[in-house]
Parts: sequence; structure tokens; C-alpha cells
Amino acid sequence: MTAYEDLSPYVYEPADPSVTTLNVGWLGRASKFDTGPVDEDVRAALVVLAADHDVNVMRGMHDCELCDRESPIREPLNDRVVALGCSEIHVTADDGVVYAAPTLVIHYIDEHGYLPPQAFTDAVVATMRRLRLEAERGWQAAKERLPLGLEVWGTVTAKMSFGIVLQLDDVPDVVSVVDAISYRPRGDQDELPDAGARVRGVVVDHAEHNWQIKVRVGPAAW
Ligand SMILES: [Zn+2]
Repeated sequence: MTAYEDLSPYVYEPADPSVTTLNVGWLGRASKFDTGPVDEDVRAALVVLAADHDVNVMRGMHDCELCDRESPIREPLNDRVVALGCSEIHVTADDGVVYAAPTLVIHYIDEHGYLPPQAFTDAVVATMRRLRLEAERGWQAAKERLPLGLEVWGTVTAKMSFGIVLQLDDVPDVVSVVDAISYRPRGDQDELPDAGARVRGVVVDHAEHNWQIKVRVGPAAW
């Protein structure tokens, strides 16, 4: 992987020329870098950004030049695994400056004690705050579009022990769940349908703790 000094202008991939984009964490064999502890929240945010908001996904793999760990390095995130070394994390500071880091930055922090510049960690926090706000607005909008009692159609995307996950036709971005106990298409609890099945139900709850739209299929149990 090409090495760049921290906070040098980013040139690896074409970027918007009207935006200042700076390199962070492009470490090579000969790189000198600061070391020190990185805030656990920042590290956790980097894994989320690498998993769900990575950019410039390449065809090849970046290897760590500081050790002989084989790529891709796999990082657990809840029930998923994120492969590091094949894309970048871009975060935007409140002053508009963008910082571009390879996803391997997480490995450099974990295994090589790398301490990224403060401006970068500040931008990570600012970016997560903005994403959270955006998600919150999305949840508020979803609730308005899916009031309690509304009839909805959806497609089963997963069958789990607790119930089924639906992708609703009209609001596909929100997570919608039919609990097993609420799946009563013929008036009694029934075997859950498989992924791909079409389901019609009624919105019965907005679960605030995990931002899920709860749907019931069939008549109410009580
Ligand atoms: Zn390494």
C-alpha cells in the first residue's frame, strides 16, 4: 500500500477539488507515527464507518506493511464480520475538511499503537453525530408514514426464532418485525413464512428502543 504522511493532501483517488481532503493513517514500512491510546468510542465508530459507510472499495487488498498479518483482517461487529484493507473511511470535520483513511487504520490502532491526529478523531465524532441525527430523522419520518393501525404489505427478508423481519413496500429503509406471537394469519399462531414470502399486516407498535416497526398478521390475540 502506498504510504502518505498524516495530514498531507489526499491524492489516492479523485476527490472533489472544492473540498480539502487530507490523508490519515496511510502507514508504510518506513512511516514514523505517533502512538498512544485511542478513545474506545472512536475506535468503535471507525468499525461502524468501515462496515456501513466505507468508500472507494477497491478490487485488491491492502496488506499491513508493519507486520505479516494476512489480509483481509477481519473485525467483528455485532453478528457481522468486517473485512479491513479493501476500502477507505472518509470523515468530515465541522469545518468541512474531509479526512481519508484506509480501513486498516483500525488494525494500526489495535496492533501498532497508532495514534491518529486529533483533528481526525474529532471528525470521526462529528460524522457519527451527523449520521445519528440523520437516522433519527429517518425514524421520525418512518413513524409518521406508518401510524398504528395502518395496513401494510411487505416481503419477508429473514425468518428468525423470535419472528420474521419484513421489508415494507412503502418504507423499505425501516426495520419491521412480526413477532412469532403476532403471526396469526388464520387466527391462531402459525408457522412462520420463509424469506421471500409476501405478508400483509397491521402496524401495532413503534419500538423506540431499537427503532423497529412492529407488525401483526391476522386478528389480535387479545
Ligand atoms: Zn500490522
